[in-house]
Amino acid sequence: MNLIDTTAAPAAGARAPVEIAAPLAARRADAKRSLAGLDRAGLAAALAEIGVSEREQRMRVAQLWHWIYLRGALSFDEMTNVGKGLREKLGAAFTLDRPEVVVEQVSNDGTRKWLLRLPPDIDGDKPHDVEMVYIPESDRGTLCVSSQVGCTLNCSFCHTGTQRLVRNLTAAEIVLQVMVARDRLGDYPGRDRAVGPGLPTEGDRLVTNIVFMGMGEPLYAYDSVAKSIEVLADGEGLGIGKRRITVSTSGVVPEIEKLGREVGPMLAISLHAVRDELRDELVPINKKYPLKVLLEACRTYPPASNAKRITFEYVMLKGVNDSPADAKALVKLLAGIPAKINLIPFNPWPGTKYECSDWETIEQFSDIVFRAGYSSPVRTPRGRDILAACGQLKSETEKLSARERLALRAMAAAAE
Ligand code: SAH
Ligand code: SF4
Repeated sequence: MNLIDTTAAPAAGARAPVEIAAPLAARRADAKRSLAGLDRAGLAAALAEIGVSEREQRMRVAQLWHWIYLRGALSFDEMTNVGKGLREKLGAAFTLDRPEVVVEQVSNDGTRKWLLRLPPDIDGDKPHDVEMVYIPESDRGTLCVSSQVGCTLNCSFCHTGTQRLVRNLTAAEIVLQVMVARDRLGDYPGRDRAVGPGLPTEGDRLVTNIVFMGMGEPLYAYDSVAKSIEVLADGEGLGIGKRRITVSTSGVVPEIEKLGREVGPMLAISLHAVRDELRDELVPINKKYPLKVLLEACRTYPPASNAKRITFEYVMLKGVNDSPADAKALVKLLAGIPAKINLIPFNPWPGTKYECSDWETIEQFSDIVFRAGYSSPVRTPRGRDILAACGQLKSETEKLSARERLALRAMAAAAE
């Protein structure tokens, strides 16, 4: 099923989805392997496969790294400092292909959504579709990426949770999401940089921040996520520093400490409730790792400090978790943790039993949180339009409404 319905009428403010005719499209599943997205060890192994000696590999890996990640090379021919013979060998054995972009949607405010198609694991199977979103602001551009196809955790308000898990993405598939976004935006030196309303005007990069808030639970795809962050953050390549990469988790406690110690990105916690009884229902992993242990893991998260706060995401569900008493309890619960609070208006989906809180309720909640010293992105006047979240983009949200764009911004605020 094509999850972005290209026949749907575009929402106000959004251009109709555009079918991409192919230069960046990946080849068939049986085609040559792409080196794009691999880490240094993966590149070295590929070089070994075509007979590059161990002695030479280090230098060649550095060259490939530079061309692939710093320059965004799309073919080996661009690699002018690599000898012609090796370029030909590389080209005969490998490609630099990206996943196929099946739909691109551009809104008037610069927000972009792409649907990527990953080849099926077994020939003849259905391909996997992964959606990502680019949320531009004047001083930065945030890309929301996925870590899994589907999700095994059944958070009751989340549409992804209703989908059958297909699989974890590989590290390369995560890195490739960022590379595709940069391809489409011309965000490499010497490329035709995208222009248009809403795009960042400050700085020389269009993709400056990454949030793992697309499909899937990143800490269940720990190895891929950890490895992908090392590639994304590498200063000789894509160069998106770990302070600008935020991993959002529903609360897989053992992996939180490990992520902090081994990788050290920014952390976002999908909190959504201040009592175990309610959180058990909304975020069922809470039964395994209840609030007390989750908050302890936050308190001791290695990279956290006042300058590097943990974001607590709180989805506003009408009559469920949105009372003034909840707001007060939230502030109390987070005392002593270097925290930011992101109130996310609930984005309804067909069949859900929840509704989004009224705007007045959100404002009241936000006031209490604000008075306790936390600013909240939904407090902007544009916040009145409300909503949507990239957590369940691959659902019915083919139309990019003003409400949706706004909520995407609320989520992107985790990457501030
Ligand atoms: N699995 C991870 C990351 C992906 S979800 C996690 O749960 O943190 C990213 C964010 O979107 C989470 O805070 C999630 O709770 C939120 N979310 C999911 N469905 C939503 C919906 N329908 N409306 C608003 N936010 C939602
Ligand atoms: Fe999975 Fe996150 Fe959705 Fe929960 S909120 S079902 S963890 S994607």
